[in-house]
Amino acid sequence: MIELDGAAGEGGGQILRSALTLAMITGQPFRIRNIRANRTKPGLMRQHLVAVEAALQVCGGEAAGAALGSQDLTFVPGPVKGGDYAFAIGTAGSCTLVLQAVLPVLLKADKPSTLRLAGGTHNPMAPPVQFLQRAWCPRLAEMGAHIDIRLERFGFYPAGGGVVEARVEPCTELRPRTWMGRGERRAAYAEAFVAGVPERVALRELECVGQALHWHEDQLLVRSLPANQGPGNALMLTLEYDHATEVFTAFGEKSFSSERVAHQAVQRTRQYLESRAAFAEYLADQMMLPLALAGGGGFTLDEVSMHARTNAQVIETFLPVCFAFDRQDGIDSCTVAGR
Ligand code: ATP
Repeated sequence: MIELDGAAGEGGGQILRSALTLAMITGQPFRIRNIRANRTKPGLMRQHLVAVEAALQVCGGEAAGAALGSQDLTFVPGPVKGGDYAFAIGTAGSCTLVLQAVLPVLLKADKPSTLRLAGGTHNPMAPPVQFLQRAWCPRLAEMGAHIDIRLERFGFYPAGGGVVEARVEPCTELRPRTWMGRGERRAAYAEAFVAGVPERVALRELECVGQALHWHEDQLLVRSLPANQGPGNALMLTLEYDHATEVFTAFGEKSFSSERVAHQAVQRTRQYLESRAAFAEYLADQMMLPLALAGGGGFTLDEVSMHARTNAQVIETFLPVCFAFDRQDGIDSCTVAGR
């Protein structure tokens, strides 16, 4: 039984999600104590509990301590079964984080699978669905994994109510891959999504982005959604390169000005634009587990987060791999190799 300390490193929900994924793939049971110990509300939240429930359905395993607020969980995986699954988070808890916990497992199934999730699709602190579609899935496809994600209905924090569906083809072997540079820029655009929020908010956000990044009018897109998919507002900046796509998102809130939302998205985009790295911080931490499953690979990144270092430790506990973070000529890199 692998013993994990949920307070280690960043002490957040990723320790649990990575452990669930890797337990199902490797067949190794684990016990985790101090779940999300470094968060203001420690223990399992809805999103984490649904990830455990989804894991149990996908592999028919057993869990002890799977309850809201629980800080101690034991998980014993069974054999992975492909098929059609549906899960409801019931709050704005992130659908995408639950998807990311289960999708790598279904790549190992004996037949194609579909996963339908209801909950939050656009939450601060989680990848928006477009991030998976544009930034994460295409990189996995380059490793041989084919995952198709469809956003049926937006679910903004705090109301939730979104729906997302993923289709996964089995993949017998993920291929190692490296992304050392991003290549030439192919496209750059900003989208301001508004649902039940006045369109002028979107227009003002886009105007600020246009001024700050010197982007042209046709790069600034208002995406008006049906009011019943809100209230919600997300400002999303997408940068497509030969070898990578990045998506930077900031969320509107009642007390935030449009300028503040735009400033957040622009700041993060600028940090990436000023570096030569292939990936930004979030895509970097999300590519670590797939690369470790492939047995090797790496990428350059614009920031090495505590989240990434913690994830490396969890992955190394389950798989015979070793991560290395390095910095050369002013650029950070992350590589993983078999040990
Ligand atoms: P906790 O509440 O314990 O922090 P959590 O389970 O909600 O846990 P984290 O463990 O912090 O979340 O993991 C968040 C994940 O979401 C990370 O993989 C990070 O890369 C990703 N993420 C957060 N914000 C964004 C964003 N704006 N775009 C893309 N990915 C994001």
